[in-house]
Amino acid sequence: MAKIFCVANQKGGVGKTTTTVNLAAGLAKVGQRVLMVDLDPQGNATMGSGIDKRTMALSVYDVLLESASVAEAAVLSEKCGYHVLGANRDLAGAEVELVELDRREKRLKTALAAVDADYDFVLIDCPPSLSMLTLNGLCSAHGVIVPMQCEYFALEGLTDLVNTIKQVHANLNRDLQIIGLLRVMFDPRITLQQQVSDQLKAHFGDKVFDTVIPRNVRLAEAPSYGLPGVVFDPSARGSQAFVTFAQEMVDRIRTM
Ligand code: ADP
Ligand code: MG
Repeated sequence: MAKIFCVANQKGGVGKTTTTVNLAAGLAKVGQRVLMVDLDPQGNATMGSGIDKRTMALSVYDVLLESASVAEAAVLSEKCGYHVLGANRDLAGAEVELVELDRREKRLKTALAAVDADYDFVLIDCPPSLSMLTLNGLCSAHGVIVPMQCEYFALEGLTDLVNTIKQVHANLNRDLQIIGLLRVMFDPRITLQQQVSDQLKAHFGDKVFDTVIPRNVRLAEAPSYGLPGVVFDPSARGSQAFVTFAQEMVDRIRTM
């Protein structure tokens, strides 16, 4: 049975896509069967996995509108070692089209049920909003991984996200829980980041992942080569941290 996780945070530019593709590649590296679902119309996770969003035959848009199955629309990224259910601009229209349809927030969940036996992990890269798309992600998932930068307003932003997850849990998806907060783009030389990191641990305890992802330029360079950092430069500090994080995830879900 596949474990399904959303990578979510309403803020843009906090490292969601970087986390999704590198965790996917890290999990593939430690022998897991992985499907990466791109739910952001920007298609960055698609491109960052080596799949051209402009020439893709079928995408998550077709799956949400039920004109294709996940098995039909997903493609293998050979270099990355995982399957990709990609996204492009079409997906921006789905938002409006779904409003008219029945079971609109459960479409992805229903579609993923058909491939449940084919994967160990499904990772969903969410857009930076609480839209119908994100709702489809949250309704499908067993848990949420929240990447965050240890900055001054980080805790405030978290309150909104935690409330949203509570609401979805109460009304739409009883399985949903926060799996953990992942500290990303971390620079230990910055005192404020250390302080916020300590606050996070005081507040959220073991919901804060042990692994910390450092700020690392190789992770930022990798997308322009259509690769996750973990594949582009496995020896980079950031890449090694994501492989460690993948192992932490495997260990954590054993006890879930
Ligand atoms: P989001 O999906 O939340 O919008 P991204 O994953 O696209 O965020 O990250 C935003 C920017 O920060 C990108 O340019 C990305 O390459 C860069 N970035 C993300 N994580 C790191 C990191 N650990 N070190 C350096 N740059 C990073
Ligand atoms: Mg993104």
